[in-house]
Amino acid sequence: MFLLSWEEREILLVAKTYPKRSNRYGNTVCTAGILEDNNEWVRVYPINLDAYFYKKLNKFVRFKAQISKNTGEKMRRKESYKIREATIKITDDSLVDTSVKGVWEERTKILKGMLSDSIEILKDQFEVDRTSLGIIKPNRETIKFLIEKPIDEIEIDIMKEIQLNLFGEKVKKVDKIENAFSYQYECDIANCNRHKMICIDWELLESFRKWRKIYKNPEELQSKLREKYFDWM
Ligand SMILES: [Zn+2]
Repeated sequence: MFLLSWEEREILLVAKTYPKRSNRYGNTVCTAGILEDNNEWVRVYPINLDAYFYKKLNKFVRFKAQISKNTGEKMRRKESYKIREATIKITDDSLVDTSVKGVWEERTKILKGMLSDSIEILKDQFEVDRTSLGIIKPNRETIKFLIEKPIDEIEIDIMKEIQLNLFGEKVKKVDKIENAFSYQYECDIANCNRHKMICIDWELLESFRKWRKIYKNPEELQSKLREKYFDWM
C-alpha cells in the first residue's frame, strides 16, 4: 500500500490510441503528450472514452490535470502517470484546428524539439531508465505502410452491448479491431536495423472502422486507407 501524490501539471496532448475495452474502467484511451513545464514525455491513463470531457481532448490540445507518477507501472515504463479525469481543464486549443494558418508549422516546431536520432538510441535508453516514448524521423525512402492480411479478413468484434458509465449514461462498448496495420521504416542513420511497428493510433483504426461501412469493395477501402495513411501522411 502506498499513497499517490497528485500534482497539477499542464500537458500538450500529442497522440491517442484507439480505445480499449476495460472491465474495470469502461472504454479507455491511452494518451501521450509533453509536459509543459519540463518538456518531458508523459503517458496518462486511463482516460474514459465516455466521459463528457473526452470529446474535447483532441490532438494538440493543452490541458491541466492532476496527475501522479504511476509507481508500479514506472518500473516498466518511465513516462506513465495516473490521471484524475475530473480535474481535466482545457487551457489552450489553438493548435487543434489544422486548417488555421501556421498550426502545422507550430506543431512541427514543437515535435522537432522532442526528436531522438533513432529507435536504436531509444531502445538503449529503455535499458537505462525505462524510456518508452519517443519520436524519430524515419528515412523517407524506406517507409512502408503495411496491411498485414487481406483487408476483408481483418477481425473486428462489433459490440452492441450497452453498459452504464460513471455518469449513469448508457454507452456502447467499443468495437475491438485486430492489430493488422503497421509501418516499416529505417531510421536516418547508417546502421539502422529496420523496424516494423504496429500502429494503434486512434485516427487510423477509427477510419478503418468507419470506412469499411462506406467503401464496401475491399480494394477501394484499402486504397482509401493507403491514400490517407501513407501518401498524405
Ligand atoms: Zn533504426
